[in-house]
Order: sequence, then C-alpha cells, then structure tokens
Amino acid sequence: MGNTNESWIDRMPIGYAKLLIEANQDQSFQFRFIEINPLFELIVGLDKSLILGNTFHEILSDSLETDCGLHGFCERVCKEGKPQTYNQEVSCNGRDFQISAITINEKELILLLDDITELTRLRREMKENQEELERLNDRLYRESITDEMTGLFNRKHIMELLVKEIARAERGLEFLTIAMLDIDAFKSVNDDYGHQFGDFVLREFSGALVAQVRTMDYVGRYGGEEFLLIFPGTKIGDAVEILDRIESMLEVNEFRQGEAAVTLQFSAGVVEYKGESMDYLIRRADDLLYRAKRMGKSQVMMN
Ligand code: GH3
Ligand code: MG
Ligand code: MG
Repeated sequence: MGNTNESWIDRMPIGYAKLLIEANQDQSFQFRFIEINPLFELIVGLDKSLILGNTFHEILSDSLETDCGLHGFCERVCKEGKPQTYNQEVSCNGRDFQISAITINEKELILLLDDITELTRLRREMKENQEELERLNDRLYRESITDEMTGLFNRKHIMELLVKEIARAERGLEFLTIAMLDIDAFKSVNDDYGHQFGDFVLREFSGALVAQVRTMDYVGRYGGEEFLLIFPGTKIGDAVEILDRIESMLEVNEFRQGEAAVTLQFSAGVVEYKGESMDYLIRRADDLLYRAKRMGKSQVMMN
C-alpha cells in the first residue's frame, strides 16, 4: 500500500515534502524532512540523500528560507492547525513558487511547492503592458488637448475648459473672467522675417503668456495669433491687471532669433461672466477685441 501512495506523490506536478514537526523547549519548532518527491529535489536542486533527515534550516538556508520567512509560515500553520497558502511568492533557483502547508497530525507537516514562474511572468508582463498602455493613453490625451505648435491648449480644449468653468461659476456663484487676445500686426512679422521666425515668435509669445498668468488660469490658442484666456474665480479688474502686466512685459521684451528681432503688442477684449451662454460670452469678448483694434490697437477693452 505504501508503494501506491508513493507513486502518485512521485508523479504529482508539484513539489511535495513531508516534514517531522519537532517542538523545541521554547515553543518554537524545527522541521525535519522525512519524505520528498522527485520534483521537490529538482526545485531545491539537491539530491534526496542530502535533504532527508535534515532540518529546514540546514537544507533551505540559502535558497528558500533566507528572505521569505518560510519557517515562520510553517510555525504558524502548526500553531493554527489549518491548511494555509503562503501569501507571498518564494523564489528558488530562479523560479517562483506558491507554497502551501498542512499539518496531517501533531507530528507531521506537508509542504507543497507549486511552480508559478510562468504565471508571475505573465502577471509582470500584463502589468508592464498596462503601464505602457496608461503612458500611451496619457500621451494621446495630452496630444489631443494641445496645440502642437505652441504647446498651449488647443481651441477644442480651451472651449471645453470654458464650459466647465461656466458651470462652476453658475453653481458656486463664483466670478469668472475671460479675455480674447490678438497679436497686433503679426502679418508684418511674417512679411519682414519669414514664416519660420513667425512660428518661433508665436511659440515664445505663448510661453510668455503662460509665464505671466497664474497657475489657476488657462491659456488656449483660439486661432492663428489669437488666444483665449480664462481666469477662474476672478473679477474683471484683476484679470485686466494681469493683462496690463503682460503688456508691460512685452514692452521690454524682444523676441529674437539671430538677426531677426521684434517686439509685440496685442489687443484684447475682457469680459466677466454674467450668466449668459458661452457663445454670447465669447461674442462680447470678440466685439471688444475688435473695438480695441478699431481704436488703434495695443489696448485692452473691458465692460
Ligand atoms: P491685426 O493687428 O489686425 O490683428 O493684424 P494682423 O496682421 O495680426 O492680423 P491678420 O489677421 O491680418 O494676419 C494674421 C497673421 O498671422 C497672418 C498669418 O499668416 C499669421 N499667422 C497666423 N497663424 C500663424 C502661424 O501659425 N505661424 C505664422 N508664422 N504666422 C501665422
Ligand atoms: Mg492679429
Ligand atoms: Mg487674428
């Protein structure tokens, strides 16, 4: 009968070991190997003759035991008296194992080592794929809301932000101010120095806008050399102050690339949200911008 037992244990696709439980005087335990199957030998990388009759520590000190607390786990199984699966993967000779243990009586403990190397590899691969996907998703999202040339929010996204800010202003009765801003005589920058320099100036100008507004404000490229600025929670007077600051900065700032150099001025229409539709809010800002242009440019109009 013993032989029949042995044969299925020997053919089990998991590492099997039977250990003798030896209680020390200080309530701790020793575990001594009394039976193992061939797969267990293979996993541990030691011949049967070197394993049987030895304690846990003597055999597994360098591989299984050192950093995985397996001895503690077996002690816990003995004390609690019910089968348990170790909640941590154990690596041995470059492979990963899930370990279960069960006491079959007060003297004997069975240890089962299930090779889950492939599973952990797949899990790791899945996690890496997931992270890669998230990175890609992030990038796609950022690209979808960004104006490629200036790095500002694109028109679609700045409008989405405006929808959100209007909703917020409505709910919280907060102030909201927007500005429509257009660079003056930008055509002459292209005409005088070429389109490439024009692109460079647009990029620099955009960076300067972002640097001048507060972190809570939004700057979007509305069209060619036209920008929509959103100032959440802001009264019109405070927004105008920010635009004045941008004007002063532009007065002393030269956009230069090699021989080409220009200073810029802009016109802007600034309006505070008064409960109207988004389209109408933008129209009011637009009208003021064009009034500023008609009045000689380089000025900020508000109402
Ligand atoms: P105004 O003061 O009335 O606004 O005059 P303006 O010259 O700025 O305006 P206009 O509408 O006559 O011309 C806009 C110019 O901006 C012409 C167009 O080529 C240029 N522009 C628009 N987008 C870009 C761009 O992405 N790169 C470059 N280099 N130029 C651009
Ligand atoms: Mg212009
Ligand atoms: Mg324009």
